[in-house]
Amino acid sequence: MIRLSRALILTAVALTLASCETVENAAPQTPVAAVSHDQLLADVRILSADDMEGRDTGAAGGERARAYIVSRLEALGIAAPPVGRLQPWTLEGRTRQGPKTYNGINILGLVEGTRVPDRYIVVTAHYDHVGISEGQIYNGADDNASGVATMLEIATRLKAAPPEHSVIFVAFDGEEHGLLGAKHFVQAPPVPLSSIALNLNFDMTARAETDGKLWVTGTYQNPTLRPMLEPIPANGAVSLAFGKDTPQDTGENNWVEASDQGPFFRAGVPFLYLGVDYHPDYHRPSDDFERITPAVFISATELAASAFRSLDRSLDR
Ligand SMILES: [Zn+2]
Repeated sequence: MIRLSRALILTAVALTLASCETVENAAPQTPVAAVSHDQLLADVRILSADDMEGRDTGAAGGERARAYIVSRLEALGIAAPPVGRLQPWTLEGRTRQGPKTYNGINILGLVEGTRVPDRYIVVTAHYDHVGISEGQIYNGADDNASGVATMLEIATRLKAAPPEHSVIFVAFDGEEHGLLGAKHFVQAPPVPLSSIALNLNFDMTARAETDGKLWVTGTYQNPTLRPMLEPIPANGAVSLAFGKDTPQDTGENNWVEASDQGPFFRAGVPFLYLGVDYHPDYHRPSDDFERITPAVFISATELAASAFRSLDRSLDR
């Protein structure tokens, strides 16, 4: 997610720590699917390694991360859409020092649908993070190497069992400087916005030590989507929770425009955001691979995959 002020982060941490006492554990549990998650974890480890230098937009580390994600999509056999694998853009963004012009590059992939191939689900996760500051690398393991890995896991499964909608995968650049890659995508979409049935965005899927929840934001704005997801049971360590999207959710507790689903929302495209709550390593140099919770990450990714399949089956009926 994008950076909040230090005061807001500390408030969020205090609130989440305070909420520990009320953690519910009553959700039905189903076993995690017996498939290998080695690649899922390897993707996070590689994207959040020091040699990626925090994956800042326009920096050498961001370019290395991009090369890795492109190589993964190519190895999976995920085609580039007709507009090409890479979508470059130039936009003014924000930094701690003030406005700055960024040259970013989104990464695209396309899987054709079987039932409604002219309707698209755009599955997204930002691959950039905040780079290096005062000599410290912000590795961004949870934010958002995890979401990229979750997206790549879904891509892997769609090659084995094709989707009903056509799916455009986008690894966005420039999220941390103001949702820039998503803003550009919506301004210059590779398919008409009216053909996009849904944006499904992942940002932070690897830690939920405070509440055991993978939050689904956007059903307040898109209420018909909620019944498609409510039957999905908890899977191992994590269960779905709905919220962070109502008029009563204010400030840092409203996530409608806290990540790349924001520009889709503004353009009137149905959206859902899946992500975990803030944690003490959020936007700190300590957001490292060693601090993610593999059981949570695997569980959240299985829930994300189930959510995708349910939405794909149910939309455009
Ligand atoms: Zn993020």
